[in-house]
Amino acid sequence: MKVTEHIAKANGKPIISFEILPPTKGKSIQSIHKILDPLMEFDPAFINVTYHRSEQVFKKRNDGSFDKVDIRKRPGTVGICAAIMNHYKVDAVPHLICGGFSKDETENALIDLNFLGINNVLALRGDPPHGEKYFRPHASGHNYAIDLVKQVAALNNGSYLEDDITNADATNFCIGVAGYPEKHFESANPMLDLMHLKQKVDAGAEYITTQMFFNNDKYFEFVEQCRANDINVPIIPGLKPLSSKRQLSMIPSVFHVDLPEELVQNMQNATSRDEEKKVGEDWLYKQAKGLLDKGIPGLHFYTLGKPDLVYNVMKKLS
Ligand code: FAD
Repeated sequence: MKVTEHIAKANGKPIISFEILPPTKGKSIQSIHKILDPLMEFDPAFINVTYHRSEQVFKKRNDGSFDKVDIRKRPGTVGICAAIMNHYKVDAVPHLICGGFSKDETENALIDLNFLGINNVLALRGDPPHGEKYFRPHASGHNYAIDLVKQVAALNNGSYLEDDITNADATNFCIGVAGYPEKHFESANPMLDLMHLKQKVDAGAEYITTQMFFNNDKYFEFVEQCRANDINVPIIPGLKPLSSKRQLSMIPSVFHVDLPEELVQNMQNATSRDEEKKVGEDWLYKQAKGLLDKGIPGLHFYTLGKPDLVYNVMKKLS
């Protein structure tokens, strides 16, 4: 079922979703089960699986010199989505990114997804690879997420890249996109970022999942701004658990979001790893409860390595 159908079917009750990363190469599907098995208790509407481009790494040759090679550390998004749907009978939402992929490769991934009966995608641009400051598109790929949205929307109209494919069966993907309550870090100002978000929606995106935020006011202000700018699709808030002092500097630098003073203070006062986790868990609970009390279409948890904190919070909420 499509994400938008889940939201409609829930009839005003917020749906729950979880996001996972494909494991690094060499790990089996069991590592996914280990994360998802406990979370299934909360009857998620769907599970998102992130997509990752290749990274350039240096490998030492026998003669001591180095080779620069492309390595995809976390492949398998399409296969994992199919495995999740098959094993848990729950919908999966694969992320698709522009970075590192040609339009042809994207089309082939969409064809695979369509054959597998996966009719949701979250269309994203992707970040620059590690060690690079600016995003550079693949030579025959897309510059921005909107171009990816347009490609999926074209396929939904039966239009493939090769124009000699005629009378093609149309796909039926529900397209989601990312939104940034605290503005995308590259955007000159929030209004410009909203304008680009609106363009993605006008191009065919049917819902928005937000970047993580740690202050609920930012989400509600963002929703207000979206509505004022004629962006009327569901906006699903994304929450990530904070679990260590180290993340106080890591999260703002990687995700470009602010951490509220109270959260920072509580984390700094923690004197053990267990206390640090407790601070993160309490904050996540407070945020989730606050969002649910005010009314949201769904709650999306970035489990990213911390499914136990998400589990504890969901347990308290249910
Ligand atoms: P875009 O919508 O293309 O926007 C990128 C920037 O360009 C913004 O500043 C925007 O304002 C600007 N812009 C947009 N269109 C135009 C235009 N036409 N002209 C000029 N400027 C424009 N990354 C991964 O690699 N894999 C994942 O699985 C993944 N999942 C994510 C899930 C969520 C919910 C979120 C919020 C992010 C995720 N990311 C993922 C990270 C994401 O790829 C980055 O945040 C990336 O920097 C931007 O992606 P986007 O789709 O928002 O890009």
